[in-house]
Amino acid sequence: MKRKTFDISFSPVNIFTMFKSNFLSVQLKMKLHIPLFQRVVIELQSNCNRDCYFCSRQSDTSGKRRTPEGKRVSKSMPAEKVMKLLDELQSLNFKGYITFHHLSEAFLDNRLIQIATEAKKRGMRPYVHTNGDVLRNNEELCKKSAEVFEYVVVGLYDYNNQEEKEDQKEFWIKRLYGTTILFSIAEKTYRRTYSPDNEKMGKLEKKTYPAAICANPQKYLLIHYNGDVSCCCEDMYGELMKSNIFDKSIKEIWYSEEHKKIIKELQGGERKKYDLCLKCTMGPNSYSPYPMDDTNHYDR
Ligand code: SF4
Ligand code: SF4
Repeated sequence: MKRKTFDISFSPVNIFTMFKSNFLSVQLKMKLHIPLFQRVVIELQSNCNRDCYFCSRQSDTSGKRRTPEGKRVSKSMPAEKVMKLLDELQSLNFKGYITFHHLSEAFLDNRLIQIATEAKKRGMRPYVHTNGDVLRNNEELCKKSAEVFEYVVVGLYDYNNQEEKEDQKEFWIKRLYGTTILFSIAEKTYRRTYSPDNEKMGKLEKKTYPAAICANPQKYLLIHYNGDVSCCCEDMYGELMKSNIFDKSIKEIWYSEEHKKIIKELQGGERKKYDLCLKCTMGPNSYSPYPMDDTNHYDR
């Protein structure tokens, strides 16, 4: 039998085609090399009922969370856009942790339980952070929260001594029986990149880490209520990616060249490449395959 042969001529057109195909294949490998995010934050709405002296939202008078006059902004992500994001996450086979606030109080949005339930139905693992004010006197809401959220982080900011702190912990452990409870406590506050400029925060050292590695852009996909995409909690204006999720798909943004560049440079400790990272107060951190490692700093 005559052996089949291929006619490969080295014309400029063929060389270009071969080069393009190799280039695309390398690109594809690079794309596949980025693991999918471990955690997703979809901020449902912009507001919070509290004014914690340490919270970065106090310094945002850009109109995103507060007006230039300091008034609270109250805007929401439309429900159809939230559902579209959940569908897209499901199509990417994302089964990791998901929450619905950023610098805002999740329970001020009465769609929260329903949306978290939709995420759970799609195979994701909802969790939530809260100041507890909406939940405290609503037993039914506590029950539903314990059912849908895999864990709840309650901010304890009002205690005056150790005894009061322990009493509050006991209260929430009973109130949210059935889920895991963690506590974010006021005394562990540190100076954040965009901490508000006030007397209490001014007393804390503002430490930066210009040459430290940072894996946050590899772990988190944060989407603010207005569609801004950010790489970490410090990136509260979406300065790093400069992308809006309402203009592009999650997949396009996550596997974009810009995102890969940010990941690579921060893996190499090149914070100096980005103004935000250079002034960032988040310490060195590396990639862990166990997303719950990120919760080790909370009180139990
Ligand atoms: S409760 Fe949370 S989001 Fe609200 S001001 Fe305090 S720290 Fe910020
Ligand atoms: S260095 Fe800071 S600002 Fe930059 S990605 Fe990491 S946590 Fe965010």
